[in-house]
This record gives sequence, C-alpha cells and structure tokens, in this order.
Amino acid sequence: ALQAGIVGLPNVGKSTLFNALVENGKAQAANFPFCTIEPNVGIVQVEDPRLQTLSSISGSKEIIPATVEFVDIAGLVKGASKGEGMGNQFLSNIRNTDAICQVVRCFEDDDVIHVAGKVDPLDDIDVINLELALADLDVVSKRQDRLKKGKKTSEQAEKDEVELAALDKIQVALEAGKGARSAVLTKDEALSVKSLGLMTLKPIIYAANVMEDDLANQGAENKHVQALRKRAAEEGVQVVVVSAKVEAELNELPKEEAREWLESLGVKDGGLSSLVRATYSTLGLQTYFTTGEKETRAWTIRKGFTAPQAAGVIHTDFEKGFIRAETVAFDDYVKYKGTGGAKEAGVLRLEGKEYIVQEGDVLLFRFNV
Ligand code: GDP
Repeated sequence: ALQAGIVGLPNVGKSTLFNALVENGKAQAANFPFCTIEPNVGIVQVEDPRLQTLSSISGSKEIIPATVEFVDIAGLVKGASKGEGMGNQFLSNIRNTDAICQVVRCFEDDDVIHVAGKVDPLDDIDVINLELALADLDVVSKRQDRLKKGKKTSEQAEKDEVELAALDKIQVALEAGKGARSAVLTKDEALSVKSLGLMTLKPIIYAANVMEDDLANQGAENKHVQALRKRAAEEGVQVVVVSAKVEAELNELPKEEAREWLESLGVKDGGLSSLVRATYSTLGLQTYFTTGEKETRAWTIRKGFTAPQAAGVIHTDFEKGFIRAETVAFDDYVKYKGTGGAKEAGVLRLEGKEYIVQEGDVLLFRFNV
C-alpha cells in the first residue's frame, strides 16, 4: 500500500496528529479491519460521502472506504543528514514512503517549547528541507562516482549517460538549495533515478498545525499560516490547515459534546479529513467504486490506470481474464438511480482493455476465469 510519512521538527504536533488519525480511523467504523502494522504505521480511511449515496441506491449491507497509510517518522533535527539525533534511522524510514506530509507549527503556546526558541514556520521548513536535500546530495554524488567507474558495454554506457544527465541536473537543483523535484527531467531521465528514492523528489504537503480559533477561517488571521501559504505557493506545494489538538480532544469527548464544540468553533471537523483527502490526491491516487447488495466499496488506483489494471486491484484473476468493464460515471449512477436506469438512459458504457478509468467511475467487471 502507498504510504505518506509524517515529518517535522520536534514539538510541532506530529505524534498528536498521528494518534488522532489512528483514533479517528478506529472510531469511524467498528467493523472496519483497522490495524496498526507497526506502532508508527496507521491505516486511515478516506472519508467519502459518495459511498453513502451509492450504498443507499443499491441497498448495500456494508460500506468499505478507501485507505491510505501514514507513518509517524521520529523527530528530525538540525544535522540529521550528518547522523545527528535519530538522523540515519529517520532518513531510511522516509526513503521508503511515497509522499511526505510535513507538519509545520503555526500555533503559539508558551507551554510547548519550540526547538529553535520561537515559532517560525519558514525557518522550520528550511531546516527540514535542507536536511533532506543534503541527504539526497550525498546519494547523488555516491551514485555519480559509481556510474563513472568501470568498463561497460555500449548499451550500459548509453543507459548510464541518461542517468548521469539526470543526476547532474538534480545536483544543480540541490546545491541551489531547491529540492530535486525542481529539476526539469525528461521522461527517461526521471525513470533512471526513480530507484534512488530521493526524498526531495517525493510529492509533499504542508500541514499547518493551528490553534482552534484559526480553524474556521483557515488561518486567514494567523501570520504564520499566511507566511507558510506564500512560501508554499512559490514552491507549488499544497497547504492544509489542521488542528492536531482539536482532533485529539474530539476523540476524548462524548459525541454530543464534540458536536457542540465544533459548532461553537464554526467548523465540521479539525481538518483531519481534508488532510487525508489531500494526501490521497498528492499520492496520485484516485477512486473507483463497485456497488451491490453485499457492499459498496471504494477501490484505490493510480491516475492513468487502464480498466484491466483497475480490475487487478480487486484480484489478479480479474486483470488476467479481463473482458470488459460496465461503466457508469458516478453522477449518472445517482441521476438514473442505478445500473438499470443508467442502461435505459444510454449512459452505461461497455469499456475495453484500453479504457482509462476516471475518478468516481462505478464499475462492474466481466472476465474469464
Ligand atoms: P511532535 O514532537 O512533533 O510529535 O509533537 P507532539 O505531538 O508530541 O506535540 C508536542 C506538544 O505540543 C504536546 O504537548 C502537544 O499537546 C502540543 N500540541 C500539539 N499540537 C498542538 C496544537 O495544535 N496546539 C497546542 N497548543 N499544542 C499542541
């Protein structure tokens, strides 16, 4: 499964956020096969109101949402790339993730010590991004040395040329203090460096951890959030406003009290579900549905998956024996109240092997066994 790593300086609220994500997952559906694989890995459901809609049309007994995995990655400190603190451990954990969710402290609280002495999101981001860039630079230069050595077949030499070109571009970006993702690579170049697991090549989101009063207007009056948004816009990174503390406290409250508190804050939740959805989409994931009397279920695929590949997510046999996919767009399914109605209206399509599955497609696969 795809994983997002939660990173950030100490005391920014990572653990609070991670625990809230995990607790929230447990609370939402008692029958959901929730599990914690390791203490620092949590499987989190992606809330999706479309599931209820489909389920009520097809009279499903059960709803099974999509999930995404979060990994709480132990505190990164200045100097981690040089092995300070949990440095190396931190770096190898993050190398295995598919995306990075960087928690940025935007809340003031004199009782919670800030490692640098003051709340300064831009400074915090710079520290983290610099550590990641330095670690990547190390990987890049080791790889460059290796590729330049030894005798090679001409075929290998040609391949290495492509990778070296990519590494050179990435090196320039990293040395300029920018992430590897800012390097402009050709398709082949990008492919050639994929297995290096460069951290600054991974998609990233900033989670602005705010005070409860900042939730309603999404931090519009919080100068830290404003600064963060400006920087993120320059970097082309998405910002999600969340309050780890509110989410944690909500889990402790009886339902009715939780509802009243949220109402007084003027919000629907503490921002957790938006963070999960943003992470899902940052990972390049999208959803298709299957629905029937037994269950309505959200399946996770990568953007660009063909119908057989999407079928393969359910079972490899579905992919091997794929014949066609009876396809109805979500909106059509709702408008015509199910497959029967969609068929009569002529909006049910029979799609073949080349079909690229679209977000929200309701699918029924036909296959040979
Ligand atoms: P980590 O080191 O990044 O994992 O940070 P923790 O989650 O352990 O949080 C550090 C301290 O900050 C704890 O005492 C939390 O209760 C507190 N904290 C976390 N989020 C917030 C927040 O949004 N507001 C306030 N006031 N305190 C928070």
